[in-house]
Formats: sequence, C-alpha cells, structure tokens
Amino acid sequence: MQYITQQFEKLVNIDSPSGFTDNVARYTMQQFIDMGYKSSLTTKGCVVVDLGGEGNPIVLSAHIDTLGAMVAEIKGNGGLRLTRIGGLQPQNIEAENCTVYTREGNCYTGCMQLCNASTHVNADYAKSSREFTNMEVLLDEVVSSRLDVEKLGIAVGDYVCFCPRTVITPSGYIKSRFIDDKMSVAILLGFAKYIADNNIVPSRRIYAYITVYEEVGHGCASFPFDAREILCVDMGCVGDGLTCDERKVSICAKDSTGPYNYEMTTRLINCAKQHNLAYAVDVYPYYGSDASAALSAGADIKSALIGTGVYASHGYERTHIQGITNTFELLKHFLLP
Ligand SMILES: [Zn+2]
Repeated sequence: MQYITQQFEKLVNIDSPSGFTDNVARYTMQQFIDMGYKSSLTTKGCVVVDLGGEGNPIVLSAHIDTLGAMVAEIKGNGGLRLTRIGGLQPQNIEAENCTVYTREGNCYTGCMQLCNASTHVNADYAKSSREFTNMEVLLDEVVSSRLDVEKLGIAVGDYVCFCPRTVITPSGYIKSRFIDDKMSVAILLGFAKYIADNNIVPSRRIYAYITVYEEVGHGCASFPFDAREILCVDMGCVGDGLTCDERKVSICAKDSTGPYNYEMTTRLINCAKQHNLAYAVDVYPYYGSDASAALSAGADIKSALIGTGVYASHGYERTHIQGITNTFELLKHFLLP
C-alpha cells in the first residue's frame, strides 16, 4: 500500500489531461520496465505491458489521462478563457491554481477565478452561475492586454492543468484531484510489483493497458491484444442511491452505456464474497469506461469494471486506503488464485 500511495503521488504530480499524456505515459512505462517487464507505447500513446503467464489472456486497463483545460481565447484584459478537456466542471476549479504549458515548453502559473471576483466590488458575485464564459485564468504575471500575454509565448491551444492538491490523512483518507484514475494506475503498478517481488507466474496471460484518452471517450477504442476479457480498474461511484463508500471496492453491474458482462461480473462478486472483502455492487447512473469504448469500437470481448470507491468524482475527490486495499486484494484473488 505504501508503494501504491507513493506512486499515486508521483503520477498525480505529472500533469496529464487527455491529449497531453506523453510525460506521464513514459514515466509509467519506465516503472514497469524497471520491474523487469516488457512494456511499450502504442502509436496513440497508451502503455502496454506484458505481466506474464500463458493462455486465456486478460487485459487489465486503467487510464492515466485526467480532466483539464485548454486556452480557448486570450482576452483583451489579459485573462484566459478556457475550454474543458473531458468533464471538468467550472464550479470545481474556481479559485484553483493552475499551470499553462506553452508549445515552446515554458510554464506559467495562474489561478481560475470568476470574472470580476472581488466580493467587495461585484454585487452579483454570489448570484453568478459558474461557466467557462464568465470565468478566466488570471496569470501570475504582470499582463493587462492580449499582446502582453502573447509576448510570454502563450497561445490559443495551450494546455492548462489544475493543481491536484493531494492530502493523505493519518486516518487513511486520500483527498486529491485525479484519483480517477491515477489511483488505479498506481494499483496496477502495485499489482505488477507484487507479481515481480514474489516471482509469481500467473496461471493465465495478463496484460496491463494504461490508456490515455478515457476522459474524452475513446481510451480503449483500439485494442491491440489477443485477449477476450478486459477488466477495467477505474473509480467506483459513491453517492445517493448507491451502496459503495470510499473504504470498499466497487463492482459495477451496469453504467449508462449498459450492463457489464454477466458471467465475468458474477465471478468477481463471488471472488469478493469468498475472500471476505468489503465490496459493493452498484449501478452507475452517469458513467462510461474504457470497456464501453472497446465494445463500441467492435471488440469481441467480455468486460467488467471494479475500483476503489471515490466520492466527489471529477471534483476534489476522496478515497480511503481500505478501498485501495480491497481493490488490490480483489485483483490478486481474481487473477492469481
Ligand atoms: Zn475514470
């Protein structure tokens, strides 16, 4: 668990909205290579890893891309209007620090604010809806015009990445942006480390597939494997009407794209039951996964989805070390019986 949380902290501090994942993908690939695995990048930028074993292959997927934003307009006052990458909510990034990456390789910091954000000045502060059209990034530079900003090398199309603000509490809670889905990537690294450290030869072939476009819907749409099963490790939903919490592993029976494979999901539920893991089976109302993308693209596979319970998803998220442990244990018992 220590290794997993350490890797999570490293991963979450490498900015990687969908389409801007090269650094984090190369870092992740290197971690697998350092453990002795064969690992490579696909053309699209996903990380493929062979975790060993022979026959009846299965793919374990998790996505390394996150929500983020892009400069859509440099305004006359020197503020930046943003467009979202993935399902980023403007309310969730108000007053959050961010970094702008220019195409020349420079970085500038700033903060996302409501336009006219002083409550002593703006009578409509509380009433204003929070939209990308009435919010702006205030650069931490002396700029007051579009020209000033352009002189810094900042341009439309530059990526804007938000601070993860990771906190791990003594009680075991992990609060951070982008637990979805960097925690699952950290869990897969931990799983690979468990196999390597204990010299385990899996009884079936296992691939890890770290995808880079999940948040925009086509993470697993290319599926370069001979496998017939995919197990997505992604965040488990926590909220009204659902039974999961941050200390459980969530098993998704159905999301908004449809049901997961009945037989494979039943096997996961039975495995969790048999090993007395704290788990929940839930239906996610507004959710799609890498498996949905693979199936939509025509892959002839069985799919299932598990993950640690994550509250306040796509915002300032929260999970617990027990949820991570239960997810890891389910992976271990399901794949290395
Ligand atoms: Zn996710």
